[in-house]
Amino acid sequence: MELRVNGEEPNKFHLNQFSRTLISWHKNNGRHNLPWQKEISPYKVWISEVMLQQTQVKTVLPYFKKFVEKYPNIKALSNAKLDDILILWTGLGYYRRAENLYKTSQILKEKYRYKFPELYEDIISLPGIGRSTAGAILSLAYNKKYPILDGNVKRVIKRYFAIRSSKEDEKNLWYISESLLPNKNNNIYTQSIMDLGSLVCLKNSPTCYACPIKKNCMSNKLNLTNVIPAKNIKVNKKKTLKLYLIIIQNFKNKKLVLMKKNNNNGIWANLWNLPSFEKKTEYKKFIKNNNLDSNIKKYDNIKHNLTHLSLDIDILKIELCKIRDFDNYSWKNIYDNIGLSKPVVMIINKLKKEIDK
Ligand code: SF4
Repeated sequence: MELRVNGEEPNKFHLNQFSRTLISWHKNNGRHNLPWQKEISPYKVWISEVMLQQTQVKTVLPYFKKFVEKYPNIKALSNAKLDDILILWTGLGYYRRAENLYKTSQILKEKYRYKFPELYEDIISLPGIGRSTAGAILSLAYNKKYPILDGNVKRVIKRYFAIRSSKEDEKNLWYISESLLPNKNNNIYTQSIMDLGSLVCLKNSPTCYACPIKKNCMSNKLNLTNVIPAKNIKVNKKKTLKLYLIIIQNFKNKKLVLMKKNNNNGIWANLWNLPSFEKKTEYKKFIKNNNLDSNIKKYDNIKHNLTHLSLDIDILKIELCKIRDFDNYSWKNIYDNIGLSKPVVMIINKLKKEIDK
């Protein structure tokens, strides 16, 4: 297949220059101290790349450190329970990623004897690993010639070649990304293009004056950096009302709240949750069936945005004076380490502050 960009064959000399320039730029300008770059291993690259899917580096840093402290290698991770991994993931979002890490760790234990595979076909077949993550692991950890196409790299390529059309298909971008690969130092090259995207070729206001490839960058030449890549059409998030209920034991030990573990479906699969309701009728039924109609107080309201949803959560609180059981629910100490969604973390933190006063 012949490489064509905007219907034309790109200048071969510029293509070869691209990786060479970025590799030499990276020496003094790239990132060298990220925790997954120290004593680099396929395991660390895998964990970091999964955490970095849809999440920024600065958010990932503390999570990554805690994670590898607790699970320093594949063997340690494969002995962990999913619940323990979810605890470390609490607040990072996109919890399916944690579940996929768990599933992959079991495959690495059983099929690969705790060794991370080196072949693309084996890596891509692991849960939660797509083509770009596989490419990152192969290039960063094994120094193999594989392309990546995460959001940052996509932006650099689109701007460098002035690919305006948002219809420019993914297949073509992959082909361009592959064509830009050097014959050696693929580990440095991959890190350098990722760094260029996150440090220089920024989404808003790229700092082109400091860019090593500005001379041949078509968007820079044609003054198109503000229009490439084309802005995503804003999707109106579906507003969803929810009602959470804090049922707390005001008897001997005030630190117990009623919780239920979510089933294996949905964005917060397998995390612990407060009694929660989408319909008033469900809430009323729960209150009636459990004789809870007195002492219900308004506690708080939380707005929480997810990719396609905007949650508006009303929170009510009931303090119980007697210990009692609820079908399908458990009493959890608010200081216990358990996997929780972000809104529940916010509620529990507020409760802790009040109790610790
Ligand atoms: S010159 Fe500007 S637009 Fe082009 S790659 Fe560099 S930072 Fe991005």
